[in-house]
Amino acid sequence: MSTTVLDGCSVVTMNGARAEFASGHLVTDGTRISAVGEGPAPRNLEGARYVDASGCLATPGLVNTHHHLYQWATRGFAVDGTLFEWLTALYPVWGRMDAETVQLAATGSLAWLARSGCTTTTDHNYVFPRGGGDVLAAEIEAARAVGLRFHPTRGSMDLGESDGGLPPDNVVEDIDEILAATERAIDTHHDPSFDSMLRIGVAPCSPFSVTGDLLVQAAELARAREVRLHTHLCETLDEEDYCREHFKATPVEYMESLGWLGPDVWYAHAVHLDDASIAKMAKTGTSAAHCPSSNARLGSGIARARDMRDAGVAVGLGVDGAASNEACALLEEVRHAVLFARARGGPRALTVRDALEMGTMGGARVLGRQDEIGSLETGKLADVAVWRLDTLPHIDIADPVAALVLGAPPPIELLLVNGRPVVEQDRLVNVDEETVAGDVLKASRSLLARVGAQS
Ligand SMILES: [Zn+2]
Repeated sequence: MSTTVLDGCSVVTMNGARAEFASGHLVTDGTRISAVGEGPAPRNLEGARYVDASGCLATPGLVNTHHHLYQWATRGFAVDGTLFEWLTALYPVWGRMDAETVQLAATGSLAWLARSGCTTTTDHNYVFPRGGGDVLAAEIEAARAVGLRFHPTRGSMDLGESDGGLPPDNVVEDIDEILAATERAIDTHHDPSFDSMLRIGVAPCSPFSVTGDLLVQAAELARAREVRLHTHLCETLDEEDYCREHFKATPVEYMESLGWLGPDVWYAHAVHLDDASIAKMAKTGTSAAHCPSSNARLGSGIARARDMRDAGVAVGLGVDGAASNEACALLEEVRHAVLFARARGGPRALTVRDALEMGTMGGARVLGRQDEIGSLETGKLADVAVWRLDTLPHIDIADPVAALVLGAPPPIELLLVNGRPVVEQDRLVNVDEETVAGDVLKASRSLLARVGAQS
């Protein structure tokens, strides 16, 4: 069991009292935090690694609540398109993916998430090309290699073009196949334990790419197996028009009719919500993954993050897939959450600390892991980001939270997941960044060659 001692740093705990220490310490013991507080760390702990963290800020590791890891190999497509135009351009490319492409792309995504302070991430993979191998196992292997805590969801699409859906028929699956594969994923991979590094969720893609039958049966399966439910919802006005036309309902009313409201459900985006939809989410404990950069990249709008929080909805942050957010840096989402909330709702719409809370405890609540991660407290898991704030980009900003949230992304002195180092002095510990970059380029080129050969 390893012990790490951080000494002499500012500490923002994000605990219930929102305690902060201008000069504090934090001690990890194995996978847990064993001490955190004001002043110097205890001296001479046997076998401990002491880290001089002066000039740094320690925060809980960031929690990413929405992503499509495989998209790291398909960035820069339809850069000026709408969501539906962008999807239509990308579906044929994604349809040629296989497990090897997904593993290399996911390693790239996960590596960059770690470099932006993320310690726990979800994934939403909904493209399972025939003959492409086990893409879910491939991304799980990538997360193990990089060292992040991982909540992949088994996504799905069963409503192809010929049945009135948006995706081409060759990327959709049959409902029985989907449910069997989802159950198999839970059996094989899901770990419900306290310090679990791997939990599976169930995630049909969106109202315009899956049938109501699949949504109902997926919810029944998830509840029988006590895993969480995730989908895209209320991302664009096109989606709202689609739901009104096909179901005579708003997206949230439609999901309500299928059993998709509840404390085990989180929606990605939740941009176009009316007051009644926010009230329904609050009343049922349904939560949201706010993805400001992706929503802006696709011109979808600005989510009502403040209104959701005021109503009592748990809101986490997400980078969304790399194809609609080429940066995919989670700390950037914290900054964008502040800027976009204020652009929408004025200077008091969101404080820098509330934005950081969304990126940490908010995300932990969205994933149902608020007792395990999301804050720096004795007994919780040792997921810690240590940001260096004593160099040119931040040196004169007295408030470390303002420096972190409003300033340029700082170097990461140390990133711990379950007490183990994943990033040290801005370098990945478990994988080689240059090798990962080379592999991503190869995967992307080989994928595009396969698409070219097919068309
Ligand atoms: Zn998405």
